[in-house]
Amino acid sequence: MKALLPALFLAIVSVTAVFAKGGPAINDKCPVDGKTVRIIYRIFADKGTIAFCCVDCMEAYQKNPARYTVTVKEPGK
Ligand SMILES: [Zn+2]
Repeated sequence: MKALLPALFLAIVSVTAVFAKGGPAINDKCPVDGKTVRIIYRIFADKGTIAFCCVDCMEAYQKNPARYTVTVKEPGK
C-alpha cells in the first residue's frame, strides 16, 4: 500500500495539470452539431480552449477546423 501512494500522488498532480491548461472553454455549444459541450472533450487552439459535446465532434473538428465556426459564449453567462 505504501508504494502506491507516490504513484497516486503523481496521478493526481498530472490530472490537475491537464485541467489547468488552457483555462475554461471559449464556447458552450459544440461547433460541429450545436449541442451543449462537455469540458472533458476539448482542444487548445490559438483563440483559446474549444470544447465539444463528444469525441466524434472533437475529431471531426481537428480534421478540418476551417469547416466549423466556433461561437464564443457571451461573458457573464
Ligand atoms: Zn458535437
